Amino acid sequence: MTAIKVQGGIDILRLPVNEKEHIFPPWHVKYTQSHILHSKCSKSENACGDNDADACQFCIYNRTLELPHMPDMVFPNNILTLKHVSGAVLQFNALDALRRVSNGKIQLQLACAEAWKESRAESSEYLEEKVKPFDWTFTTDYMGTMTGFEIRETDERIDVEKLRRKEKIVFYHDLTLFEDELHDNGIAVSSVKIRIMPSSFFVLLRYFLRVDNVMLRVVDTRIYHEFGSDYLLREFTSREAKVQDIHVPPTLFVEPNDIAPHLPVINRFHHKLIIGSKPTQSAKLGLTEKQNVDADPDGNVSSTSASESTT
Ligand SMILES: [Zn+2]
Repeated sequence: MTAIKVQGGIDILRLPVNEKEHIFPPWHVKYTQSHILHSKCSKSENACGDNDADACQFCIYNRTLELPHMPDMVFPNNILTLKHVSGAVLQFNALDALRRVSNGKIQLQLACAEAWKESRAESSEYLEEKVKPFDWTFTTDYMGTMTGFEIRETDERIDVEKLRRKEKIVFYHDLTLFEDELHDNGIAVSSVKIRIMPSSFFVLLRYFLRVDNVMLRVVDTRIYHEFGSDYLLREFTSREAKVQDIHVPPTLFVEPNDIAPHLPVINRFHHKLIIGSKPTQSAKLGLTEKQNVDADPDGNVSSTSASESTT
């Protein structure tokens, strides 16, 4: 075992994992949150073995993703999980989000892509051998990790007006999955937010990219569920534009909520996620409980700010 210290003498592996669980029958909502991914193997000088069942997070990420370069900050413990009594599970985690980053091909040929490569390359030899082409913007179309749902296309839409109404928020949380500053050329960030109201819950998973003076991109997955129904609605939208084609003040470029409405939609689809099997007998017990709308200690986000930040 090698003790690894980072800047400031803090051993990040020892930082606690913040964890909270809430039960909103028939749903069980849990999040965990902790430090960023280590920059090298935390168990061995020579990295964990390929078949090591107890491999460290760094080696798991490295082995699974094969990206030549990870985002500056990856939060492997920032995980949001929604579990239904039927066994259906909806989860949001950084590893699965990064799996959807294209490896081996660059989707965008941008001026700063070349600059970025040059800043890292000692020589073309180095470039070819060590820096494989990959999507350095970490663009991901990740929509969450799910089991136990049947996915169908639908004409039904998320009732945005209903979401805008100031319904009491009984639970709110947001988590960053990963973030990269593109070598000071902008930002790429993936985050997930959830809010639970007495009658429904809403999740916004967002990937935001700003390549300074070049382009903006917002990829959103919205998931909405009304308690009592047997399905969730999922809306995926991908928006982007070149900076030269966006005619709004650049001050809006900083905040995804502000700029998203000004970006044209490149791709959009709507799904119904039908909750799979029937609840088991033991799980049904939870359904008889009254919804614990007042029991949540996390109601520290006002309904105003939470509703504005997640719609
Ligand atoms: Zn390791």
